[in-house]
Amino acid sequence: TLSDRLGGVFDKLRGRGALNEDDVRAAMREVRVALLEADVALPVARDFVETVTSRAVGQEVLRSVTPGQQVVKIVNDALVEMLGADSSELDLNVSPPAIVMMVGLQGSGKTTSTAKLAKRLSTKDRKKVLMASLDVARPAAQEQLAVLGRQAGVDTLPIVPGQAPVDIARRALQSARLQGYDVLLLDTAGRLHVDDALMGEMKAVAEVSRPAETLLVVDSLTGQDAVNVAKGFSDQIDLTGVILTRMDGDARGGAALSMRAVTGKPIKFAGTGEGLDAIEPFHPSRVAGRILGMGDVVSLVERAAETIKVEDAEKLAAKMAKGKFDLDDLRMQLDQMKRMGGLGALAGMMPGMKGMKGAMEKAQDTKALVHLEAMLSSMTAKEREKPALINAKRKIRIAKGSGRTVQDVNKLLKMHQEMEGAMKRLKKMGGLGKLAALFG
Ligand code: GDP
Ligand code: MG
Repeated sequence: TLSDRLGGVFDKLRGRGALNEDDVRAAMREVRVALLEADVALPVARDFVETVTSRAVGQEVLRSVTPGQQVVKIVNDALVEMLGADSSELDLNVSPPAIVMMVGLQGSGKTTSTAKLAKRLSTKDRKKVLMASLDVARPAAQEQLAVLGRQAGVDTLPIVPGQAPVDIARRALQSARLQGYDVLLLDTAGRLHVDDALMGEMKAVAEVSRPAETLLVVDSLTGQDAVNVAKGFSDQIDLTGVILTRMDGDARGGAALSMRAVTGKPIKFAGTGEGLDAIEPFHPSRVAGRILGMGDVVSLVERAAETIKVEDAEKLAAKMAKGKFDLDDLRMQLDQMKRMGGLGALAGMMPGMKGMKGAMEKAQDTKALVHLEAMLSSMTAKEREKPALINAKRKIRIAKGSGRTVQDVNKLLKMHQEMEGAMKRLKKMGGLGKLAALFG
């Protein structure tokens, strides 16, 4: 993944204060590869890397993360920013009927997306929706929409054979006005490639229908060609947004960045399956993660940067790397747990650390935390360092000092043992290296 690669690039520069230009350029070569692997179009990847480079050079490295992780975060933030605001949905604030025109290449998912949107608008937003297919090029295209309309419980314009697309659009508009529909969705014909005939047809339809929204439907598996598709359509028609389909597949989502960069229009929805409910508002942060293939690293860096006391974390990391975990460490953990979602949450995010989650979460309850801390404070430094010293007599003393019972002290010691055991097992599995690296 990208974070692994960046880790390699930055391994040698641990401990330096700021990101310098050479380091950043080296990292950006990896970022560029990651973008291209995710199908971001070359010129878009190039521009993006330039922007991020100028932003990253000179930034102070947070002490609690590695430089590699910090760069991942910078790249991610820039990506989210470029992908646009979270889920800007349709703007249908016009006097009805509001027209939504769907355009795109053949097979991109226009007809399916039309029906999905229609269903969403009629059920979720309680709009009265009419759909019309203007696709006279493909046999049975109009019937396809009618079938989907019946499935979605949405009306479709009756089919009149032999009409040209512009005439169907006029008729649809008239029906929508006369019958008081709130929204009219126009599903248009596609071509295998952007060509003049298609663009002429789209322009003519837009002219007569004056759409409130013109949405370009693009298959997220479209690779380097995404730029041409986006250019072809946005040069000729006024797009208002993009729908990215087949996000349920293994596409890395790079087309999203290309679309956004070339059209300058927001990606409004993502298609996530063949069913009529498989559409959702677009989430830039999710897609950014997908493009960079970095899973939860970003949120991890954010949390680490915000909440972990650096010196504590470093001390703990050093000890943990050796598989050592005494009661002082437990105390430090409890303290940090209060400030972040708990090490249980952290462990849940780290591969290979799931086993530790339960033990950590036991201590999560705040009241329990206070009690645990009281008992730990009643111990001597030697006892915390070497829990084996705590015999029956000492347990009584600790219990008295903290207002707890000997049973409570036993529970605390048992929890510590469980955690220590988990640490040792993890060390064997190599999972700790990952956590230690996180604390850099
Ligand atoms: P059009 O030619 O642009 O109208 O494309 P269609 O709407 O007819 O879709 C072509 C094929 O892609 C159909 O088999 C759809 O079921 C499928 N499809 C459309 N959107 C999605 C999606 O988001 N996910 C998946 N898995 N399939 C989709
Ligand atoms: Mg179609």
